[in-house]
Amino acid sequence: MQLPDIERLRKDTPTCESLIHFNNAGASLMPKPVHEALINHLALEASIGGYEAEHQALPELDAFYTEFATLLNASPDEIAYVENATRAWDMAFYGMPLKDGDHILTHESEYVSNYLGFLQQAKRRNLVIDLIPSDESGQIDVNAIPALITDKTRLIAITHVPTQGGLVNPAIEVGEIAKAHDLIYLLDACQSAGQIALDVKKLQCDVLTGTGRKFLRGPRGTGFLYVNSAFLNKLDPPFVDLHSATWTADNSYEFAANARRFENWESYVAGRIGLMEAVRYANTLGLANIESRVANLAKTVRSTLSNIKDVDVHDLGVKQCGIVTLTKTGIDANDLCTHLRTQGINTSVSTLTSARLDLGKRNLENLVRASVHYFNTEAEIDRFAQVVESA
Ligand SMILES: *Cc1c(COP(=O)(O)O)cnc(C)c1O
Repeated sequence: MQLPDIERLRKDTPTCESLIHFNNAGASLMPKPVHEALINHLALEASIGGYEAEHQALPELDAFYTEFATLLNASPDEIAYVENATRAWDMAFYGMPLKDGDHILTHESEYVSNYLGFLQQAKRRNLVIDLIPSDESGQIDVNAIPALITDKTRLIAITHVPTQGGLVNPAIEVGEIAKAHDLIYLLDACQSAGQIALDVKKLQCDVLTGTGRKFLRGPRGTGFLYVNSAFLNKLDPPFVDLHSATWTADNSYEFAANARRFENWESYVAGRIGLMEAVRYANTLGLANIESRVANLAKTVRSTLSNIKDVDVHDLGVKQCGIVTLTKTGIDANDLCTHLRTQGINTSVSTLTSARLDLGKRNLENLVRASVHYFNTEAEIDRFAQVVESA
């Protein structure tokens, strides 16, 4: 299997004509079918009313669960729509069966908001955060985990692909250890969903979270939550409403029988439909095809950059993905990012405050983050390298 002709994929992404978009880890460009589904639903709401439009869109809203089930090798009952990845993660983390004195195992590559959640809950609930060390490549040192596990360890919570670099953590190997020790496994797959093939059966995670707008190419303000059906009843949803539960008698209620218990009644219906189309689009292309093209393009970006004087590439790990981070001596990363934008090239900046443990340890402050997707081309990489070189 192969991706269809790249020119055809670029036709589905008309902005490719006028812009080099290397900010797919920030927010990718929506392909035409996604953009159209979103706009069409908003137009339908304007013309017949929001509730009436939702009723008409029930098949698409159902397809949200089946498309995600295909993407993750899960069951539709294990999927919830949540407005972003952070709230999806929160719905799980804040509902975890953790008690006073329990330990959480994580890694310095953990996403900033997750780590802030650990810090807040550590204080409130008297939890202890233990850091798994990195191996020489910078990835999670899987072999170091068993020695860190004690009878107080309850949860392993890690980030598959950190926001601040090309590293892909060995999430399957971590899952094997988590299950062998009967620990809860919470995986942040926000940067891997849409660029790396994910299979929750192989990952053996209890919970997996992600966002719509990044490599999945969905609309902003959308996200999702996967909860393994065997784990569902061990989580206590931190919030409840008339959609997540039914008021069964004056003094009692029952949660929805599936992962809908983590959803809100009110939600961005057009966004849900848009995200469903984005997942359908990715499923049709095939995640294995996407993964290999993205990794190859990023490899070309790294090798091209490493030939430029004064440029350093900072990506860690044995396995690397579509995120490339760089600095250029003598130019602040923010200035380089701004300069690139004036030249029609979108990138973003990873900052110390969004990755304190990782970038702090490496004495790095700000990095330019260039993140490629399958619709990018070698010609765009050459142009990007020229602009970086002459900056
Ligand atoms: C972007 C990101 C998040 C947060 O996603 P939101 O949809 O903005 O809440 C979480 N984890 C990682 C690794 C991310 O890169």
